Amino acid sequence: MPDKYDLVILGSGSTAFAAALRAQSLGARVVMVEKSVLGGTCINWGCVPSKTLIHAALFYQEGKLGARLGLGECGGPVAAERLMARRDEVVGYLRKTKYLDILQNVPGLQLVKGTGRFLGPDRVEVLDRFYRSERFLVAVGGNPRIPRIPGLESTPFLTSRGALLLKAIPSSLIIIGGGVIAVELGQMFRRLGTRVTILEHGPRILAPVESEPALAVRNVLREEGMEIVCRTTICSVAGDGAGVRVEAERDGEPVSFAAEKLLLAAGTAPATKGIGLELAGVATDPRGFVTVDERMRTTAPGIWAAGDCTGGMMIATVGAREGIVAVDDMLNPGCGCSMDHLNVPMAIFTDPEVGTVGHTEEGAKAAGFDVAVNVMPVSAIPKAHVTGHTAGVIKMVADRATGRLLGVHLACHRGADIINEAALAIRLRATVEDLANALHVYPSMGEGLRLCAQGFSRDISRLSCCAE
Ligand SMILES: Cc1cc2nc3c(=O)[nH]c(=O)nc-3n(C[C@H](O)[C@H](O)[C@H](O)COP(=O)(O)OP(=O)(O)OC[C@H]3O[C@@H](n4cnc5c(N)ncnc54)[C@H](O)[C@@H]3O)c2cc1C
Repeated sequence: MPDKYDLVILGSGSTAFAAALRAQSLGARVVMVEKSVLGGTCINWGCVPSKTLIHAALFYQEGKLGARLGLGECGGPVAAERLMARRDEVVGYLRKTKYLDILQNVPGLQLVKGTGRFLGPDRVEVLDRFYRSERFLVAVGGNPRIPRIPGLESTPFLTSRGALLLKAIPSSLIIIGGGVIAVELGQMFRRLGTRVTILEHGPRILAPVESEPALAVRNVLREEGMEIVCRTTICSVAGDGAGVRVEAERDGEPVSFAAEKLLLAAGTAPATKGIGLELAGVATDPRGFVTVDERMRTTAPGIWAAGDCTGGMMIATVGAREGIVAVDDMLNPGCGCSMDHLNVPMAIFTDPEVGTVGHTEEGAKAAGFDVAVNVMPVSAIPKAHVTGHTAGVIKMVADRATGRLLGVHLACHRGADIINEAALAIRLRATVEDLANALHVYPSMGEGLRLCAQGFSRDISRLSCCAE
């Protein structure tokens, strides 16, 4: 007789946990199925280890800045072992308190270890047991995408997972790809002393980000000594434990690159292969991402999907919200809950940090707005001079007719914090005038939002400090 639950969730990542807790709070009996480590990508090999190491590398850089400001020499050789041990401590602590303890202390939540596979629309098999339910949530996440490159099968390479688990800092690193993971990890390794080369196929790094913040980040990365080579087509790779070699083509000319390690940062592939989605009637797109509507319903009645396995914005906060929307929809039909992906803030943890929310300039035009735009250098913010973090830019997109703020895209020291205010302003349908009139702490980096909003109607270079 199969075990029966109110909800069976495939996966135990941040998406699954958010959904499970919501379902439990609504009185449901929930089981999560996990084939690997409890907690999934974010805690084990995503957000937490990457941000722990990135922040450590920021300290190192700040030490160098401090030395330039007269504080004497800071830094010295990186103690990789200590750094990696701290990464493990942070991951271990947060995995215990935010996942394991919750599982053990919240009644009605259960975990089953093993690979889950649909046998039909109403049952899942895990090892040799069967789980039956009227509701399933597919939250299987994804894995680093491995592009097809001649020679890769016999060349040692890292993905973000391996790069975050390294025991020592490599002397040199070639990164294939110029997206979020490439720039975040590339800058981190560069700051810890690695010679880093990014090879990007397109005309610039961070393609989905507005060009102004993306170029501001590129300039900083180059100033810090990173080599960024765009418009590069990879032809082949070769190597062994001692080093790797990449043969490529740029503007019709052959070019080659050599380094100790190779990191592939070519996006995320969904973990949807071989889990019986076709037996359950769940459709996927040509890349394998589960097709869902705004209520996170799949094409099979009784089966919802959320998080990285559905594609789109693959960040932990979005997955968690999608999981909650799915549960609200399944346990409270007619609640009208749906997912709004447009006004979600997201950050890229380079330094300066990139923050984006809402419409891009082109997106707003495509949506039919008569668009007004203001772009302001971060060096216009007094606090930037106080801290020495003057690199970056803030771009605001507004509706010309009403002044309503439609989007904010920035590269700015502490940008990941500042973008939250912009997200709230957009959510509350604030105008640029509302932002321009709202007093902000002086001096603070957040004041940049007010200054940029003021810039729509006046020349901010003529404003004194704190002037209205
Ligand atoms: C290097 C890196 C840095 C990142 N940094 C950030 C950040 O700073 N901020 C942010 O918001 N996001 C960040 N992300 C993205 C974030 O980690 C993901 O969006 C999020 O973890 C996705 O959660 P999920 O639950 O959908 O999938 P996952 O966390 O991947 O969970 C899916 C789980 O399902 C399990 N599973 C898969 N198939 C099966 C099966 N058939 N049966 C049973 N179990 C199965 C997997 O083992 C896994 O544990 C980062 C990602 C990476 C790779």
